Amino acid sequence: MKITDIRAKIIHLGLPKPVVISRGTITTADTVVVQVLTDEGISGYGEGTGATFITGETPETILGAVRLLREELIGTDPLAIGHIHRTMDRALVGNGSAKAAIDIALYDIMGKALGAPLYKILGGVSGKVETDMTILIDKPSVMAKRAKEVVEQGFRFLKVKAGADPHQDIEAIRLIREAVGPDIHIKVDANQAWSVSECLWIMEELSKYGVDVVEQPTRYWDSDGLVHLRRKGRFTVMADESCFTPQDAIALIKKDAVDMINIKLMKCGGLYRALEINSICEASGIACMVGCMIESKLAIAAGAALVASQPNIRLADLDSFLSLDDRGQLRGGFTISGGEITLSEEPGLGIEVDM
Ligand code: MG
Repeated sequence: MKITDIRAKIIHLGLPKPVVISRGTITTADTVVVQVLTDEGISGYGEGTGATFITGETPETILGAVRLLREELIGTDPLAIGHIHRTMDRALVGNGSAKAAIDIALYDIMGKALGAPLYKILGGVSGKVETDMTILIDKPSVMAKRAKEVVEQGFRFLKVKAGADPHQDIEAIRLIREAVGPDIHIKVDANQAWSVSECLWIMEELSKYGVDVVEQPTRYWDSDGLVHLRRKGRFTVMADESCFTPQDAIALIKKDAVDMINIKLMKCGGLYRALEINSICEASGIACMVGCMIESKLAIAAGAALVASQPNIRLADLDSFLSLDDRGQLRGGFTISGGEITLSEEPGLGIEVDM
């Protein structure tokens, strides 16, 4: 089998409410959908969606990067995914979302060629994944109301965005815990907003409300800060923006800087590198979560298949598609009930896209 063409286009998704986190506010949800075509009539779909203040990419830069990579990859065997990643990395530094879009499409092709759903291709036995729901920064009372609503819908895991103001963060968690009761798992994501000392006292306060996992408390370059927090704090430290690549994961683990790593396909360049990061973590006794950017159900289906296939990935934060209106441009992939995603049994991702 050979790649004959790689098409890419920007799909406009509706984002009814802006996404507010401590690093910035996202008001548009355009995403890049890629289709990799082959000489055997099989084609695969992938998606790349960055965030300027996290991956440094825009839909336009992703399109440009995919066009550049297309020139390198036409004529290549789409199943030679490791070779393709080495080719992409030689041709273009960074640009994880563009690489992830191609990578996801290649795995979709592999599934279709073998007649098996992606989660089985990756080694899984069940296509079920439980995702959390993210509660965005707002007035604490509004956040608590939202948390109550989603718990009533069946979500058992909440991820609460923090970092706008410490007192407001604590008040939000207090009200959320009051609203959802003792059995719901709550973690916080500060998106780099805190200093080491702020994190220590804030987490001390949050522990009173049963919160013991903090995601990316300090700036992405401050792995020393994470080391301090692990030594002094009594909570789980998860790296997100500090870990893009397998090399980042090794560096953090060698320094004893993390208890967990949040893998995102858009940071690392897709499933191939995500599997590498998870293997490094698993061999080091570090559990993983899989998170997402503002991804549609296309990339979310790939992320969920990854979670379903890897027992070391203990948590899933794959809720972005729920805040998007894809206007029927993407069909299939999975269903969701409460927080439980059930992946398609169709070959590959099982997704149809209007290209
Ligand atoms: Mg995060």
